[in-house]
Amino acid sequence: VKEIGKPERAVITTCAYCGVGCTFRAEMRGEQLVRMVPWKDGKANRGHSCVKGRFAWGYANHQDRITKPMIRDSIDEPWREVSWDQALSFTAARLNAIKAQYGARALGGITSSRCTNEETFLVQKLVRSGFGSNNVDTCARVCHSPTGYGLSKTFGTSAGTQDFDSVMDADVILVIGANPTDGHPVFASRMKRRLRQGAKLIVIDPRRIDLVRSPHIEAAHHLPLQPGTNVAVLTAMAHVIVTEGLAAEDFIRERCDWDEYQDWARFVSDQRHSPEVLEAVTRVPAHALREAARLYATGGNGAIYYGLGVTEHSQGSSTVMAIANLAMVTGNVGRRGVGVNPLRGQNNVQGACDMGSFPHELSGYRHISDAATRSLFEAEWGTPLDAEPGLRIPNMLDAAVDGTFRAIYIQGEDILQSDPNTHHVAAGLKAMDCVIVHDLFLNETANYAHVFLPGSTFLEKDGTFTNAERRIQLVRKVMEPANGFGDWEVTQELARALGLDWNYAHPSQIMDEIARLTPTFAGVSFARLEAEGSLQWPVNEAHPDGSPIMHVDGFVRGKGKFMVTDYVPTDEKTGPRFPLLLTTGRILSQYNVGAQTRRTANTVWHAEDLLEMHPTDAENRGLNDGDWARLTSRTGETTLRVTVTDRVAPGVVYTTFHHPATQANVVTTEFSDWATNCPEYKVTAVQVMPSNGP
Ligand code: SF4
Repeated sequence: VKEIGKPERAVITTCAYCGVGCTFRAEMRGEQLVRMVPWKDGKANRGHSCVKGRFAWGYANHQDRITKPMIRDSIDEPWREVSWDQALSFTAARLNAIKAQYGARALGGITSSRCTNEETFLVQKLVRSGFGSNNVDTCARVCHSPTGYGLSKTFGTSAGTQDFDSVMDADVILVIGANPTDGHPVFASRMKRRLRQGAKLIVIDPRRIDLVRSPHIEAAHHLPLQPGTNVAVLTAMAHVIVTEGLAAEDFIRERCDWDEYQDWARFVSDQRHSPEVLEAVTRVPAHALREAARLYATGGNGAIYYGLGVTEHSQGSSTVMAIANLAMVTGNVGRRGVGVNPLRGQNNVQGACDMGSFPHELSGYRHISDAATRSLFEAEWGTPLDAEPGLRIPNMLDAAVDGTFRAIYIQGEDILQSDPNTHHVAAGLKAMDCVIVHDLFLNETANYAHVFLPGSTFLEKDGTFTNAERRIQLVRKVMEPANGFGDWEVTQELARALGLDWNYAHPSQIMDEIARLTPTFAGVSFARLEAEGSLQWPVNEAHPDGSPIMHVDGFVRGKGKFMVTDYVPTDEKTGPRFPLLLTTGRILSQYNVGAQTRRTANTVWHAEDLLEMHPTDAENRGLNDGDWARLTSRTGETTLRVTVTDRVAPGVVYTTFHHPATQANVVTTEFSDWATNCPEYKVTAVQVMPSNGP
């Protein structure tokens, strides 16, 4: 405070990076943000924070911010700065012409997990009631859509079962496909505290993440599986639990469908699912698999935490269901210290999913084909809704290439960088007649846009975010928007330009509408959030104070449902041309494609993406630490510097995807989860050879 001077005022708000949802005190001098101080009363962080929330906010005032709307007739022309009225009437005219010529289903939109619940709700409302289609999707398509599918099938709702504090009652913590230390650092600290108190740790990950061995922590088991074999590992663990008589039969008889359990138990008991047989597939020693399964089943309260290393696979949904099976067969659901917990990546990915951002679901995960639900929304919105589920992001791009999908409104998402198979994304965008990008910066996707609507940062708006523990928290305006409007106001003005009669005066009124239409949010209001700090959904008549733990007296779907999940190898195969498997992840100081963090001081900690390679593989190729290497796959190539490490096993390489110069997704495949189309980012057959640099 001495150095920067005393702040003149402070505003309590919520971090806009990861799904932990830390609360901060934003200290201001005039209109200048001078410091972000982790807030001691924040329910998710209790005064803690990481280097992103604390230091990476400089992007809000970065010179790259676009603050004036821009349009152009074709993507070959330069941008023209115009007034908001001109931009909105240009956009409305294009959208109306496309709708008249090709029909409502030629239009769609993408909501943002970086934006508030109120903003994502408005974008899906605009697509459904203004464009007239259900072609709305969100970035969860490329991250946690298998969580939605898998947990809905088994438990009945798409969300983690526990609050963060629950980890302090866990006796065994199983982390699969997640790197909490880098991805969810503040929650990782709480998990580490519990581990230092003596809880046992099982890590299932191809890479030796920090958690495996950190000060005063040593994992009981690290299972360094072959990328793409999660289902085989989990099935082998289930085999051990059932065949060794470790199943929690009383829990299963009371809480789950017993007939379905027996079918599933017969399936996993088959000898072909034994650790000894599956060792050849998983490359995890059978004895380690057996011991890890015994520990999880008999070690007391068992809590599972997972991330994108589970979901971003061709069997992502199967893996989520296999995790849920494991929790049910051991009775590890419905109380503190147990459960199944997806570690959500983006600050509001839980909220974006809750708000009806999927093409088949209205808010609260209710299917669009359900006439009773639809009529509720139709009465509130005063317009009929399409009963057919719409297109997912990859299907929108396919349809664009085919000429049947012509316009898209993308709020706060750089799909050219973040989605797989970059060349196909570019081809889809290029084929459209109207691409509207609503964002802070001229991102890579904007190269294919006809309209650029300037966005606002979390510091410039009021609203709510929902974190990974279903905690709804207020985001409060710290400074006036650089572009003059909050994102919810821009969407409202676009709706008005299309002839819709929207008259929200404040995001609290949007939340009131969400509460009227969404049973799990029925008891949520800005007034309650102001008074109580936060609420964990469901908040309604049955749960007036919210729900830190879910499925306490019974599963949301009634009886828990065991799902048979057969291991199916990915179609992505290694061979002589591409003998290595690439997997990807994040680093602590950077965030996703880096649009925000790269424009902050955090670049001092991470200036480029590096390729981790085992010493044997490096030596075979004549590569040393720091050398440039060419990374090639069947879909593309890129150049990165090598770091030689035994964190990865021989045959596996690893990189992050934070820098556009690297464009790691140029090499990822077109394969995706069988149920949700979530891309298989985590398994790509590649070759790595020396290079002179980019
Ligand atoms: Fe907290 Fe996540 Fe923000 Fe870090 S990035 S301060 S852990 S919410």
